[in-house]
Amino acid sequence: MKNWAGNLDYSSTDVERPESVAELAELVAGATRVKALGSRHSFNQVGDTDGVHVLLDALPQRIELIPDRQTVHVSGGVSYGALCRTLEESGAAIHNLASLPHISVAGAVQTGTHGSGVNNLSLAGAVVGIDMVRPSGEQVSLSRADGDEFLGSVVGLGALGIVTGLELAVTPSFAVRQRVLENLPWERALADFTQLVSSAYSVSLFTDFAGESINQVWLKALDSEPAVNDLFGATPAVHPRHPLPGMSAENCTIQMDKPGRWLDRLPHFRHEFTPSKGEELQSEFILPLEHAPAALEAVRSLADRLAPLLFVSEIRTGAADEFWLSPFYRQQSVAVHFTWKPLQPEVEAVLPQLEDLLRPFGARPHWGKLFTPGGHDWETLYPRLADFRLLAAAHDPEAKFRNGLLDSILGAPAVSAR
Ligand SMILES: Cc1cc2nc3c(=O)[nH]c(=O)nc-3n(C[C@H](O)[C@H](O)[C@H](O)COP(=O)(O)OP(=O)(O)OC[C@H]3O[C@@H](n4cnc5c(N)ncnc54)[C@H](O)[C@@H]3O)c2cc1C
Repeated sequence: MKNWAGNLDYSSTDVERPESVAELAELVAGATRVKALGSRHSFNQVGDTDGVHVLLDALPQRIELIPDRQTVHVSGGVSYGALCRTLEESGAAIHNLASLPHISVAGAVQTGTHGSGVNNLSLAGAVVGIDMVRPSGEQVSLSRADGDEFLGSVVGLGALGIVTGLELAVTPSFAVRQRVLENLPWERALADFTQLVSSAYSVSLFTDFAGESINQVWLKALDSEPAVNDLFGATPAVHPRHPLPGMSAENCTIQMDKPGRWLDRLPHFRHEFTPSKGEELQSEFILPLEHAPAALEAVRSLADRLAPLLFVSEIRTGAADEFWLSPFYRQQSVAVHFTWKPLQPEVEAVLPQLEDLLRPFGARPHWGKLFTPGGHDWETLYPRLADFRLLAAAHDPEAKFRNGLLDSILGAPAVSAR
């Protein structure tokens, strides 16, 4: 079995598709090493195992609105695409979405997946409850009332349990207008970066870091926000655009400032089409918003090496949260993303240089994308890492949910079944 991008052959010896949570619990209890996979959109080994992979798509796929609580309960295998359609039919919405609706809710939340918007929490920010199967097969449910245990578990890298359900906060359905503007001079962008990225509900900048201007600015605006016709010198595109040069805008969500449903505009890519390029790799680094101008200048200084490897880069923002392993933990952030050409050796060769440039700004790598595992001081980046290790040791004493990448982040488990 490979991941979505095809750059990773998983090392599992078996793949199981349990049809009930009880069957899943029995399977987990009897396994030596086991890990869940969602829609396999991660680019690294975060979800790998040398034991059994479990896919949750054969479990009953429940999407149940709980109107009194203004929440929805979703099963572990549900995708955002399915969730959004069901919510919209009931007049409800999720506060924000990633660039694509294809990903599973559980997998996205476990890796800290995010959209954009200075005041928008990552997708984990909607979680108010989480149901998991522990390594012993025990089924547990945690909610915000469980305090630290909950805050440690929501962005959990699959290291604390197999997520069989999530309760997410919902809002009333809302309208969005999406507009692309082109050719934003870097100088003006960096001079007033916070104002730029605050110019709509969700703002994304697309660039290859070469040249004097940012190619595209994607604004996703609420009804209450005014139309933006000129943004620091950038002007509205006259036709719909794809963020990758030369790609058809048919794959992309509705643009041209036409108001309509949130689910048709918050992601960049439409559910019925291949998102992004398809044959690609990705990396992303998330750092405090206040460092954005200096960090982006640093990345621009490497443009000669980056541009030949890049399809495109995307710059987004996100609000601070409280989840221990969230890349947005306690910092309003800028996220600097790289969609690479499928040239893994070359990308892995340039990553250490990029990471060296971003290290002084406290950059945290996206858990589901490519980074150099040994190249980060995880304790400094994540103040609650030691507490997370204790949670993992308490709940997974036999290291059933571990793999090489998790060991390099969390340290070797104290007791291992290997
Ligand atoms: C084209 C493309 C666009 C992307 N756009 C964005 C974006 O806009 N923003 C962003 O932040 N990221 C983005 N990503 C990255 C992506 O959101 C993450 O990699 C995310 O983890 C994918 O979810 P998944 O279901 O595919 O997870 P998988 O890759 O299947 O798994 C990821 C991790 O979650 C764990 N996991 C999965 N399901 C469960 C479960 N039920 N219980 C416990 N652990 C589980 C796995 O063990 C693994 O550790 C993009 C990726 C692609 C390919």
